[in-house]
Amino acid sequence: MKKLLQDLSYNEIETLVLSLGEKKFRAKQLYEGLMQGKTIDAITSLSAAFKSRLKEEYENEAIKVREVFTSSDGTEKYLFEFADGNIVEGVLMKYKYGYTQCVSTQVGCRMGCKFCASTLGGLLRNLSSGEILSQILLVNALHKKELSAGLGKEARAVTNIVLMGSGEPLDNYHEVVKFLRAVTAEEGLNISARNISLSTCGLVPKMLALANEGLPVNLTVSLHATTDEERVRTMPVAKRYKIAEILKACDVYFQKTGRRYYFEYTLIAGENCDEEHATRLIEMLKGKPCHVNLIRLNEVKERSLKSISDKAAYRFLGLLEKGGLSATLRRQIGVDIGGACGQLRASYLEKS
Ligand code: SAH
Repeated sequence: MKKLLQDLSYNEIETLVLSLGEKKFRAKQLYEGLMQGKTIDAITSLSAAFKSRLKEEYENEAIKVREVFTSSDGTEKYLFEFADGNIVEGVLMKYKYGYTQCVSTQVGCRMGCKFCASTLGGLLRNLSSGEILSQILLVNALHKKELSAGLGKEARAVTNIVLMGSGEPLDNYHEVVKFLRAVTAEEGLNISARNISLSTCGLVPKMLALANEGLPVNLTVSLHATTDEERVRTMPVAKRYKIAEILKACDVYFQKTGRRYYFEYTLIAGENCDEEHATRLIEMLKGKPCHVNLIRLNEVKERSLKSISDKAAYRFLGLLEKGGLSATLRRQIGVDIGGACGQLRASYLEKS
C-alpha cells in the first residue's frame, strides 16, 4: 500500500508541494480537493504531470464504498474498503439538525467484549488518521447533491461524528488524536470538538492523556456493569482497570475540559438490568456531571447474550430517572437493514 495524502496536515501538504517543485498555491488546491473527498485524479485544477508524480508515492483513492444499505428511516450503513483491501463499517444517521457519522478506528478489535461482533476475529490493524478522516470525506462527497439542494455550498453533510464503529479508539491513540486534530482543523472540515463523541471501553491512562490534549470531545465510557466482578464477565478489559479508576479518570476529564461525560450501558438479559443494578448505578453516579445512555443489545449470532423487552428497558430507565440520574434509552434506527457493532463486516467476511 502506498502512502495517503489524507494523513498529511495542511502544512505538510504545503511542504510536499514545494518539494515537488510546484507553486505554493497548488497546496491549497490539492488540500481542498482532498477535503472534498476527491481522488487525486479528480482534482481538475492540478496538472496531469503533477498528479502522476503524486500517484507514484500516494494512493489515488484512499477509500471506496464496497456496499451501502439504506434503511426506510434514511439511516445508511456502509462497508468501506481501504487500499489494502481491508473492510470496516460505518453508519450515517440523519437528523434534522444535521448528519451524524459513526466511524471505525481499527480493523477489528482486541478488547474482546463478549457482546460485540467487531472483536470476533481480533485486531487486524490500526487505521491511520487519514483512513479515519477518509470515511467522512467520502460520505460528505456522496451527499453533495443534498447539500447543493438544501444546505448551501459551504455546508457539510456530516456535522457530528461518533467514534463508535469497530475498534477501540484509545487503543489507537496516536492516530485517533491526529485524526481529531485534522477533522477539527479550521482550514479543513472545521468540525467542532463539541460535535464529536469518543467512546472507550475504559483505557484509563489514555483517558487521562486525552484530557490534556486540548481537544474537548464528548468522552463516552462503555460501562455495561455495576461491579468489577460483573463487568469482567462481558468485558475482559475490566481485569486491567477497575470501575473506581474509570470514574476518577472521568472526573479528571471533566475538570480539565469542562465537558460532562457519558456512559453507555447496554442492557443484557440476566446480566445487568435488574433493580439491584439500577440501585448500584444510582449510588455510583448520582451527583456526577454525567449522562447515561441505555442501549438495547444487538444480539450477535455468534454469542449467546440476549436482549431485554422494550417494556423492561423503559422500566430500567424509569428507575434511573427516579433515582436522580440523567438518562435516556437510545432510539433504535436502521433496524430494517440489520447489523451493527461489527456485525455487517462479520457477515460480509463470512459470505466472501
Ligand atoms: N471500543 C469502543 C467503541 C465501541 S462501539 C467502546 O468500547 O466504547 C460503541 C458502543 O457499542 C460501545 O458501548 C459498545 O460496548 C457497544 N456495543 C458493542 N456491541 C454491541 C451490541 N451487540 N449491542 C449493543 N451495543 C453494543
